[in-house]
Amino acid sequence: MSWLETGWRHVWLPYAQMQTAPLPLPAMRTEGSRIFLEDGRVLIDGIASWWTAAHGYNHPHIIGAVAAQLERMPHVMFGGLGHEPAYQLATRLAALLPGALNRVFFTDSGSVAVEVAIKIAVQARLNRGERGRTKVLAFTGGYHGDTLGTMAICDPEEGMHAMFTGLLPEHPVIPLPREAASIAGFEAFLEREHQSLAAIIVEPLVQGAGGMVLHPSEVLRRLRQAADHYGLTLIFDEIFTGFGRTGTMFAFEQAGVAPDIITLSKALTGGTSPLAATIATDELFDAFLSDSPMTALMHGPTFMANPLGCAAANASLDLFETEPRLAQAAAISAQLARELAPCRGLPGVKDVRMLGAIGVVELERIENPAALRQALVRQGVWIRPFRNILYLTPALTIAADELSALTGAIRAVLAG
Ligand code: PLP
Repeated sequence: MSWLETGWRHVWLPYAQMQTAPLPLPAMRTEGSRIFLEDGRVLIDGIASWWTAAHGYNHPHIIGAVAAQLERMPHVMFGGLGHEPAYQLATRLAALLPGALNRVFFTDSGSVAVEVAIKIAVQARLNRGERGRTKVLAFTGGYHGDTLGTMAICDPEEGMHAMFTGLLPEHPVIPLPREAASIAGFEAFLEREHQSLAAIIVEPLVQGAGGMVLHPSEVLRRLRQAADHYGLTLIFDEIFTGFGRTGTMFAFEQAGVAPDIITLSKALTGGTSPLAATIATDELFDAFLSDSPMTALMHGPTFMANPLGCAAANASLDLFETEPRLAQAAAISAQLARELAPCRGLPGVKDVRMLGAIGVVELERIENPAALRQALVRQGVWIRPFRNILYLTPALTIAADELSALTGAIRAVLAG
């Protein structure tokens, strides 16, 4: 019996009904935009492992940096000890982000980075003596993670708010203010409820895991204006959109407005190891300064600022400086537009949209997701449809012919 069949009795897979889930494909090796399976098949990867592998897999510059760090010091606790990879990374992230976003808190996953953002926004007020402002305004269709705190600010249905009533904290979740009715609803809500709110959280330009739904940059400017008007902390969750995915280094650049807190993860390490960062303004940081230990930020994951992750992230930032990632994202965007456009005429296709290096084909419905997945694998590609969408978020380094293989596979399976 293979390791896969033996281990199958013991692993519990993500987002899977284990009674019916098929055996996963045995991945043995990766390189660039390719996944090599144990049985000799090679798949072209359309997802870059949940949007992390921005530079493709196994980029030698990242591998070299991580290998050197592994020899020197794989890990050391962050409480009381400092290490150069983290201090250097914090300095570089602060330099990349607009003026006041200067304080970096490292964690080990996107969900936890969002939890920390919420904690900072709420505790900053408590530290200043403002009580009762503990709610975060979030938006339908949003996704911010799977921990209990973040589920509570996800889309109510996807976050299973009804099923987990009593367990999840309660936060308001309303439609994004994007056209007249939702703008009016948003404004009325804020006017009525702002005194209970600490923050507003949004995924800028694209709600990713909620269905790859795009919104125009005016929405972000509207949120910034409202946050300023009511004195709320504006959190941009760029865990999906950060590091070139939407065509600019960060999505908020396209709106010309900056948040008070930004959360980053996924492509932060170029998809090499788990690391996340919550970056806050000086003003928020200053709210934690006092003579009392009671106003300190009480958070500190065991593997906080893991040196391997920080070395990978520094190497990834080197690559953004030395290789033309944003130009590559623009080329991907143009190619996606050309090659996915013909899907518009295919039966069952509801919408085709793209932004930066994200291409989405939305279907009326997917009757049999398992069969569709298998059909895509038979085409030699790794694309994982979810709900009613097929999407591509390839490595920014993907070759034009590899991207054509991905778009061609989508067209072929849809054409039947
Ligand atoms: N926020 C956004 C926008 C995400 O896309 C994700 C993951 O998909 C998360 C948060 C959660 O990150 P993680 O899965 O690392 O906890």
